[in-house]
Amino acid sequence: MKAQSRRNFLAKGSLALAAGTSGLAMACQDKQKKAVNTPYINFNNTFEWKITTTWPPNFPVVGEGCNLLARWIDEMSGGRLKIKVYGGGELIPSLESFEAVSNGAIEMGHGGAYYWAGKSPAAQFFSTVPFGMNVNQINAWIQTGGGIELWEELYDRFDLLPILCGNTGVQMGGWFNREINSIEDLQGLKMRIPGLGGKVFAKAGGTALLVAGGEIYTNLERGVIDATEWIGPYHDYLMGFHEIAKYYYYPGWHEPGSALELIVNKTKFMSLPSDLQAIIRTAAARSNNWMMSEFNSKNMVYLNRILQEGKVDLRSFPDDVLDKLRTLTTEVLEELVEEHEDCRKIYQSFDKFRRDIALWSTLSEKTYYEKLMTS
Ligand code: CA
Repeated sequence: MKAQSRRNFLAKGSLALAAGTSGLAMACQDKQKKAVNTPYINFNNTFEWKITTTWPPNFPVVGEGCNLLARWIDEMSGGRLKIKVYGGGELIPSLESFEAVSNGAIEMGHGGAYYWAGKSPAAQFFSTVPFGMNVNQINAWIQTGGGIELWEELYDRFDLLPILCGNTGVQMGGWFNREINSIEDLQGLKMRIPGLGGKVFAKAGGTALLVAGGEIYTNLERGVIDATEWIGPYHDYLMGFHEIAKYYYYPGWHEPGSALELIVNKTKFMSLPSDLQAIIRTAAARSNNWMMSEFNSKNMVYLNRILQEGKVDLRSFPDDVLDKLRTLTTEVLEELVEEHEDCRKIYQSFDKFRRDIALWSTLSEKTYYEKLMTS
């Protein structure tokens, strides 16, 4: 059965259950054909779902945020929708969650859309791209600027519903044992840097490596890699990179505002009573807000802690290095758009929004940071 007809079938079935009598149900089904989102609530049905995350169990901020998401859904639904949270590797390996939620083996997943570049390269625009948008900008594009319609359309073919659910904010540039004074200093450098950022880094002459989270510290300590990026001061501190690297560079040009996603099996979502559907969306919006707030609160504390311990030299990438990386990013994005039709369509919307919002962001946020904020 095709996904669309399966959804219609399940929507009808659930409506019949809510209506109670088959005659009434049939009449409602006719209406339902025109208005799939007709509200219906059934307080007798309870659901036990699972969410599998791409993070280790209880991972700071994002894993904790998933625990809260499940708790909030439980509270709002009066216990009618219980969601058990599994960290990556507990139920299935982290990066198999897209597939598992897509085929309905697990109802929900949490991660970043750029993890699914192998399934659909255009997914990357719904997490982050180098020199892309910051958290405020990408929230605006996705939620009210046309992004969500494109995202839902892209994921529909996988029978997935994407919901915005978290953001890391601007990440840090990473940990280095060598000063970066010019683009030439990146040549021959082996850095753990995934995704499109890695492609740009490779174009700059470096070697971009993918190293699993648990192995980065040892690889950096032993010189298997020369540098690594991770997230921001809080998570970086917990990894202990400040003990073994000399320089901590900013900004995270490669991840200027990585949006995170809740993915829900669409057939199962559509079969839920409408109030539970709304509760999932509402809890995800709360998590989207909570995760960014928690990142900021913790990064603030741990940045100071890293600096106070006094072993690390905090540096900004030189402007000309960033300019060169920006040029190389344009090349990488042009190649991506050239190769994939989905990327072309989504990038058009993404890039137009990014350009259109630049003036407003400049005279509001940027001016605030540069001229009004005191420290
Ligand atoms: Ca990162």
